[in-house]
Amino acid sequence: MKTVFEYPAELGRLSALPRVRLFAGPTPLEAMPNLARCCGGGPLLVKRDDCMGLAFGGNKVRQLEFYIGEADAQNADTVLITGAVQSNFVRLAAAAARKAGMECHIQLEERVAKSDATYRNSGNVLLDRLLGATLHSYAHGEDEAGADKRLGEIAEDLRQSGRRPYIIPLAPGHTPLGALGYVVAADELIRQIAEAGLEVEEIVVASGSGNTHAGLLFGLRALGSDIVVTGICVRRDASAQHPRIAARCREIADLLEIESKVEDADIRVNDFFLPPGYGTAGEETLRAILLAARTEALMLDTTYTGKAMAGFIDRARKAGGGTRIFVHTGGTPAIFAYEKELTEAAGR
Ligand SMILES: *Cc1c(COP(=O)(O)O)cnc(C)c1O
Repeated sequence: MKTVFEYPAELGRLSALPRVRLFAGPTPLEAMPNLARCCGGGPLLVKRDDCMGLAFGGNKVRQLEFYIGEADAQNADTVLITGAVQSNFVRLAAAAARKAGMECHIQLEERVAKSDATYRNSGNVLLDRLLGATLHSYAHGEDEAGADKRLGEIAEDLRQSGRRPYIIPLAPGHTPLGALGYVVAADELIRQIAEAGLEVEEIVVASGSGNTHAGLLFGLRALGSDIVVTGICVRRDASAQHPRIAARCREIADLLEIESKVEDADIRVNDFFLPPGYGTAGEETLRAILLAARTEALMLDTTYTGKAMAGFIDRARKAGGGTRIFVHTGGTPAIFAYEKELTEAAGR
């Protein structure tokens, strides 16, 4: 039986786009009083998108509701996706594919200069293997176009052998189906904020491909909310990320056939916690991971949520007050792939 989704009229033709339900929402919105006491700011809250039933959850579950929806509508039988070795997206794509009764081919890109056995085999890679995904390797991590081309070739081979492949495209210029998951999340969050009677000043979220950041920002503005959204850069610096978010917002507007209410000045990106680079945590990030664990028992990773938390703590400290929400985007299994760094940090 197909689920019927109802959306606010302000979200245009969202209801015309196929979607499958992959988790039972809404995810919790929790207070973080212990962290707020440490930061001298607050109230601080966390949107627990790490708490979803599908294979350890995370923001990609929301994004996949629309990708798997389209794959299903196209009668696909195999999902293809490319990502970093410890990608949460590919792990969740494999999990969602299984739930939908499909096969999954994963291309792992060498994006991070790490080659220890734990990084290559534990965490998300272990789960990819348990899910029975077919793994392929791609040697050039920063060659987005090349990775996509190679994935296209794998899809072509599958087609030749009678399969019906569906590619989840991650590079810019594709239909931003993933961002729609966070347009929906904006609606969910606005309702939770209203129910709790909160006046929220700012939401802080990791900004990687930008689907989460752009979807959330676009959704909030479309639904009449002016809460500041700050994206913490985890892959590219602010000068590269800003136009990416702007482009994503325009693409979402085109897809939904509505006017974008996102102004250029409304796109806030902070790359202060990006160094030393994608997939590598600086001192500040490691400190934030430990503080969140030791105050609120939140489990954060070194690539995404640790950096976003470092940014969140910085914002809360400097502002000295005001209600702020941290979006926990998941990434829990990746913690185990970075066992060495985290063990060292915890022991200091
Ligand atoms: C992918 C990912 C992000 C970044 O989300 P984008 O939509 O790509 O910007 C943040 N946190 C976690 C845990 C992720 O896996």
